[in-house]
Amino acid sequence: MSDTFFHIDNFSCGYPGFKLSGINLSLEKGSFNGIIGPNGSGKTTLFRGITNSIATLDGAVFLKGKNLQQLSLKERAQNIAIVSQFVDTDQILVEDYVLMGRMPYHNRFQFFESKGDYEKAHHYMQLTDVLKHKDKLMTELSGGEQQRAAIARALTQEPELLLLDEPTSHLDITHQVKILDLLYRLNKEMKLTVLMVIHDLNLASEYCDQLILFNEGRLFTQGTPEEVLSFDTIEKVYKTPVITRTNPYSNKPVIFLVSEKMMKDSHN
Ligand code: ADP
Repeated sequence: MSDTFFHIDNFSCGYPGFKLSGINLSLEKGSFNGIIGPNGSGKTTLFRGITNSIATLDGAVFLKGKNLQQLSLKERAQNIAIVSQFVDTDQILVEDYVLMGRMPYHNRFQFFESKGDYEKAHHYMQLTDVLKHKDKLMTELSGGEQQRAAIARALTQEPELLLLDEPTSHLDITHQVKILDLLYRLNKEMKLTVLMVIHDLNLASEYCDQLILFNEGRLFTQGTPEEVLSFDTIEKVYKTPVITRTNPYSNKPVIFLVSEKMMKDSHN
């Protein structure tokens, strides 16, 4: 598997009451991947397992042929960055918050950021449109701006793989699309590989090359949006009736929910 960019091999991790098991997954360099699945199916747990914040119970995760367990914390942070669901908004200036992304590149005795660190931080803040807020406190930013600052911080790590845990869940539709457009651009222009947990199936369909569907601690299926978002698969996993159609502009699948009222009306 050494020629695969990112590979999860028969991986298990979890907590006393919940185990994610038998996960096999490969990501190509430069691909844009979405993890979908009902609440509690294990999506965040997988991220915790990959980033080693919970112990691996079985299997391994490989990046460019190297077992992640055998990389130092610093090496891992130079290759993989994570944007969590909730942005940590301590009393910290936006610029300082973003500069923290440079820490994996500092040596043991380096307590201050270099000119290069500032240049990189400013570059990614410009790209994510938060440079104008650099002297504000993180707490003074809106949800969307905080999310963009978190992405800027992750990018200053200059990772090859970006993990995002529901980056758009607290945002209105304008900001959801803005964040996803930004990720899409970064993915195309910088060949950044993206693995993102996303709840909105229609946004997932629109932006992702590959979808990975989780159900009850297992990987249920993976493939293109067309392959994964069939009405029978979605109904089986989400246990709710849906209708699938095709977006006339993008040709991607679109999911429509079916309410109880609509079901009743259709039977009358
Ligand atoms: P998802 O991200 O798909 O919504 P999670 O991975 O967060 O699901 O959670 C999967 C399961 O693990 C849930 O049943 C949840 O209650 C449980 N879980 C999550 N975090 C912990 C924890 N720290 N300790 C014990 N169980 C947990």
